[in-house]
Amino acid sequence: MSIPARFSRAQEQEWVAKMLARLEDKERRRRPSDDELAARSADLSDRYLGGRARPSSVRWANNQEHRWGSCTVTDGSIRISTRLRGMPEWVLDYVLLHELAHLLHAGHGPEFWALLEAYPRTERAKGFLEGVTFAGESPQDDED
Ligand SMILES: [Zn+2]
Repeated sequence: MSIPARFSRAQEQEWVAKMLARLEDKERRRRPSDDELAARSADLSDRYLGGRARPSSVRWANNQEHRWGSCTVTDGSIRISTRLRGMPEWVLDYVLLHELAHLLHAGHGPEFWALLEAYPRTERAKGFLEGVTFAGESPQDDED
């Protein structure tokens, strides 16, 4: 962090506090809580799936070693890998939308992918996650 030279000590402290608050804010947006994940899912469902996907819960999970996300159709719960924290929001949105779509279609057939067509960054996000996998940051891919 570079601090403008003309600042007095008091100004400097105030400026640092302001910058730290801004960073925290940014960090919070990049690492949403479980509640925020649920709110985001509701928004994505409304926007891209006509509000038809209604998960019972959406939570972060750190035991999703081989997956970016998973859903349990029987109880409507969705879990998102904590490895996605810190990744761009449009990548997280893609994984959320992917799992939401699974509440409507279990497999990966054409009907499933048709649901994701409305989201403009599906292909980019898939490529991004493949790149992460290829770079070895995760043992194996596949969002299920
Ligand atoms: Zn899937």
